Amino acid sequence: MGVVPTFRGPVDGSDLGRVLIHEHIFVRNLELENIVPGLTFEPEGAKERAIRELTGLHEAGIGTVVDLTVPGLGRAVPLVASVAAQVPMHVVAATGYYTADVLPLYFQFHGAGRLIDEPDPLVAMFVRDIEGGIGETSVRAGMIKVMTGPAGWTPDVERVMTAAATAHARTGVSITTHSVPQVRNGLTQQRYLMEHGVPADRIVIGHSGDTEDLDYLRELMDNGSTIGMDRFGMEHVLPDDRRVATVFRLIEQGYASQMVLSHDAAIESHVTPPAWRARAAPHWRMGSMVDRILPMLRAGGTSETDLEQMLVTNPRRLLEPPP
Ligand SMILES: [Zn+2]
Repeated sequence: MGVVPTFRGPVDGSDLGRVLIHEHIFVRNLELENIVPGLTFEPEGAKERAIRELTGLHEAGIGTVVDLTVPGLGRAVPLVASVAAQVPMHVVAATGYYTADVLPLYFQFHGAGRLIDEPDPLVAMFVRDIEGGIGETSVRAGMIKVMTGPAGWTPDVERVMTAAATAHARTGVSITTHSVPQVRNGLTQQRYLMEHGVPADRIVIGHSGDTEDLDYLRELMDNGSTIGMDRFGMEHVLPDDRRVATVFRLIEQGYASQMVLSHDAAIESHVTPPAWRARAAPHWRMGSMVDRILPMLRAGGTSETDLEQMLVTNPRRLLEPPP
């Protein structure tokens, strides 16, 4: 009996293997691509590259990738489903909304107390994505993604957070965030979600690995949440050796059961095109975990038990329904 939804249907938590819990298959702008000069997307080529990369990743020992590409980031479930159908690994879809400031016009006019006065369509969308299937597909979402960005805690950011908490209450699905640890806003996200009924242990504060502020990271975990050390390879933000050193220190202090490891990488992204990645961030790819980061962690003395905890046990706990 499978309990974790994937692009190919539900699987048992014990079948997930090593999980990269914060990645992106394709980050796109469906409206602008092939219109803005230079912003091209060719589905067949992209699909082939994705199949090749994910197959290689599976051969290297990764069992599951969670694709946190939600609306606002160019989510295109049928295309990713056609990739997932042809790779040996599990791919998990997500719902949520990615906006740093305002939601699209549709949501300004639809919702409680708005021109078209109805329950918030965001909630209906999140719940349908989780329980029924995304759009015309039968692919169900396995995580809810929210974000707070440079614009701070705007009314629409709060609206997405509220809708996520409501969808969590109905479904039990974990919530993962995009945070900006430099301004310690994971604590604001955590507090708000907990005040709205989300248990701390169903929250992942994403991008926490971008900081070396151990007090901040410990506070998030002492409050009960998991932190995403999920941007390995993003050396233009913080070099990997420093990211690894932070993980070491927190393992030493007993926090292995509250960290998850990933890259926040994309196979193809309109935000950071391939030529720029190749030049500025060559290690920012999903293969880095196995061929680069795990060896660095092992060389520093991290045990296989702790690696298994962060890559297998913790993600499984977050993706399975709560007990
Ligand atoms: Zn991401």
